Amino acid sequence: MAEASTVVVAGGAGFIGSHLCDRLIERGDRVVVLDNCCTGRYGNVEHLDDSEAFVFVPGDVVDPGAIAAVEHAAAGGVISAVLHLASPASPPEYLRRPLETLDAGSTGTRHLLELAERHDARFLLASTSEVYGDPLVHPQTEQYWGNVNPIGPRSVYDEAKRFSESLTVAFHRARGVDTRTARIFNTYGPRMRAADGRVITNFIDQALRGDPITIYGDGEQTRSFCFVDDEVDGLVALLDEPVHADVSLPVNIGNPGEYTVQEVAALVVELVGSSSSVVNRPLPEDDPRFRRPDISLAAERLGWSPTVDLSDGLRRTIDWFTDASVPNAERPAG
Ligand code: NAD
Ligand code: UDP
Repeated sequence: MAEASTVVVAGGAGFIGSHLCDRLIERGDRVVVLDNCCTGRYGNVEHLDDSEAFVFVPGDVVDPGAIAAVEHAAAGGVISAVLHLASPASPPEYLRRPLETLDAGSTGTRHLLELAERHDARFLLASTSEVYGDPLVHPQTEQYWGNVNPIGPRSVYDEAKRFSESLTVAFHRARGVDTRTARIFNTYGPRMRAADGRVITNFIDQALRGDPITIYGDGEQTRSFCFVDDEVDGLVALLDEPVHADVSLPVNIGNPGEYTVQEVAALVVELVGSSSSVVNRPLPEDDPRFRRPDISLAAERLGWSPTVDLSDGLRRTIDWFTDASVPNAERPAG
């Protein structure tokens, strides 16, 4: 019988990572998660721990000892892929951990690329639309180089991801590692922490509590939101695509539906049936004004495009936040 392939998921106890683990286990992969739970939680993957196909290794991607523990946990199987999702992703979270975020993107990426190289495994980097910064090209295609302030507060995340993309492409060109880079656009859904600090969770949490909805700036800035099930479909399609030039370089994975922050606030208030008012707060420094992915490459090469629209995805996310049977320590009371 063929050995089940082992997929290493760094950051697998986080929001996107845990959904990805569910999908990989469902289809018969063995999964080894490496996570230090700085922004994720073991509870996101606890339901998988009964499975013999799942191993959780607590540790930091920056620590060589943690990488050795992953190799030990995978021993006896073939590591077929290494997925790097280990990084704080929410602006307040990465601003709270500037050096750790830079380390996860630099040293952490190198450790995981070397792990992939040692095992002749495919490597997938969870990069971000933040590599485009405050874009001067709209919508953003993969060819656009971006507009990032290298010393602004957000640079700890944006430049870490830009460096991790550079490192990934260098390992591909110089060392022949089979690499994939997903430029993930704003993704939301169940298992996000209510206190995560990102716009969708803030608005849902505030609407459920009846607290004022905090719009930063005038709320005319836009984002494009992808429901997590669609995002995971796109990541798996990119991971599974056989080697060819178009998928070794970055691919946008996001939903091109574009909304102003004001529109998102109004939609959340309506769907929750909330009486929350709106308050304006200062716009964070270097907050991008527009963001929308051009997903032609993913559509043509992977046959992927998202299917869940924002209202439907928000409804499912709100249902999860209000489902008392789901453990979420930070859920709004009542
Ligand atoms: P998340 O914070 O829920 O998940 C990140 C996970 O990585 C957490 O479980 C955290 O504990 C872990 N982690 C962080 N630093 C680590 C380290 N040094 N060592 C080991 N584990 C570490 O965030 P998410 O939204 O699930 O994002 C997952 C990945 O996708 C991140 O790399 C993020 O940059 C990328 N991404 C996410 C979005 C989005 O909208 N959610 C958009 C673009 C890119
Ligand atoms: N935002 C907001 N109110 C909030 C949280 C965020 O108006 O309570 C805005 C934020 O300024 C940004 C957009 O919503 O313009 C998306 O913010 P998020 O932190 O979710 O993601 P990112 O800025 O990384 O795209």
